[in-house]
Amino acid sequence: MRLQPPWLLVTYRVSAIKQVNKPSNEPILGYAPGSAEREKLQSAYKDVTSECVEIPIIIGGQRFKTDDIGSVTMPHDHQHEIAKFHKAGKAEVKQAIIAACAAKREWCSMPWDARAGVFLKAAELLAGPWRMKLNAATMAGQSKTCHQAEIDSACELIDFFRFNAKFAADLYKQQPASTAGAWNATDLRPLDGFVLAITPFNFTAIAGNLPAAPALMGNTVLWKPSEPQTLAAYYTYLILEEAGLPPGVINFLPGSGRLVAQEALADRDFAGLHFTGSTHVFRSLWKEIGNNIDNYVSYPRIVGETGGKDFVFAHPDCNEQALVTALVRGAFEYQGQKCSAASRCYIPQSVWSRISSQLLDTTSSLTIGDVGDFSNYLGAVINESSADRLQKAISLGADSANRDILVGGKVDKSKGWFVKPTIVQCLNPNDELMATEYFGPLLSTYVYPDHEWSHMLEVVDATSPYALTGAIFARDRLVIEEMSTALRFSAGNFYINDKPTGAVVGQQPFGGSRASGTNDKAGAPGNLMRWASPRTIKETFVSPTNYSYPFLG
Ligand code: NAD
Repeated sequence: MRLQPPWLLVTYRVSAIKQVNKPSNEPILGYAPGSAEREKLQSAYKDVTSECVEIPIIIGGQRFKTDDIGSVTMPHDHQHEIAKFHKAGKAEVKQAIIAACAAKREWCSMPWDARAGVFLKAAELLAGPWRMKLNAATMAGQSKTCHQAEIDSACELIDFFRFNAKFAADLYKQQPASTAGAWNATDLRPLDGFVLAITPFNFTAIAGNLPAAPALMGNTVLWKPSEPQTLAAYYTYLILEEAGLPPGVINFLPGSGRLVAQEALADRDFAGLHFTGSTHVFRSLWKEIGNNIDNYVSYPRIVGETGGKDFVFAHPDCNEQALVTALVRGAFEYQGQKCSAASRCYIPQSVWSRISSQLLDTTSSLTIGDVGDFSNYLGAVINESSADRLQKAISLGADSANRDILVGGKVDKSKGWFVKPTIVQCLNPNDELMATEYFGPLLSTYVYPDHEWSHMLEVVDATSPYALTGAIFARDRLVIEEMSTALRFSAGNFYINDKPTGAVVGQQPFGGSRASGTNDKAGAPGNLMRWASPRTIKETFVSPTNYSYPFLG
């Protein structure tokens, strides 16, 4: 009997080239009073907040516990614990690397459509039976309102799963030309080793996508979720497992990012980092990879989306009502904790004199509190250190002769980590508050003389090291073109007459440049290609048998 080589343990073959339908974006449920979905979500929220889930480490599909325990509490009620999680230590990370490398042989030998099937099924499970539970966990653990949870943990994650399956299908289809005598192909192999996904607290969708995208392309993954997001991350893992994800393809390692990264980045089979989070953490990981470069089997792929200081720039002829709405939504939804949140704005003096009282009144009227109460517009910021960081920034605003707190400025940590939506006016356009990311409901404003709008574009471009999102408000097409050109490198996602948040998968691929990341655009074909190592294959049907050439005579 002939022995099978080890990478062909199972032979998966059907004689069909399966198609993936062009997806449409998942419709957003409204949760209006009296709606069926509102009642279902309220009931799921009650369930999530009345239990404390014990979350294990999951390696090769098996559950593990350690003595090192972390806790997930609700940011808007910080004494209320909704989950405990076992933290992975060095031994668990090493074991996860072994499990990932072992699972890879079969996973990457499967036809691509078998892998895509897992994520397409996960999308359906999430759109149906899991929707309310994952939304409720995101509301409770990350303090999102029902709308913010719905657009994140339901719609965006469903879209990531469906659109990426379609993008992958199209990538596998793209093949080089062949001639009569030679048949050419591109084989999109996974990377040579395992991928490490380190994910942020603020989007359940991003957290799910970072391990899922490399896995779709045949890689196996170590997933380190953010501590406060661990409950929703765990449920995301369970959805993938229910959808048929084989053991070891994604290994779930809650706990310390520093510890997991230290072990994983030191391993010779480390082949890629898929990161979203703060700029300084990403830079430290990049340096660590650089330090270890001599030890790796391959050159690891590094993909990271990081911080932003996202701008709104208004021209004197703009639609003022649209501008006020964009500032309120863009700066304060989800407590300003979107990487894309508007955190600095530039308003012409004439416009400011007309909109300022409406902007300040609307901001001070925004309701803030428990997200289980659907009448609240904002919840709490994620944890105490975030509340303290914002408190410090607000004190800067209050202390200086060059700054003025126009509205908000109060932090209340007694029950939850509540920070009132705050607008600070800066008299210097290069003020620290106009340049630093504070990641909270804090909007810094600079009011400029109308005639200086063209010059101000240079200031907007140069003030902050980031280039994630930005929005302009203007009517005149010539003005819009001038602004778009001057700010071409200031934002990876650029909005004209709209708020700088709310990118939709398949419509506005998301990512920034400069200090904001590698700009590989999550939920786009380019990102999937970062997880593939193409092999070009040429087959010659009738091979030459004479080494000589005609020119030799
Ligand atoms: P963070 O950097 O604090 O944490 C992100 C992840 O890194 C977490 O899992 C954390 O545990 C881990 N981590 C922390 N320190 C580490 C270390 N030393 N080594 C290895 N891992 C470590 O970020 P966060 O607070 O979760 O998220 C907020 C930040 O993320 C903001 O700066 C925001 O702009 C950014 N963000 C960017 C995007 C984008 O697409 N550009 C999207 C979401 C969030």
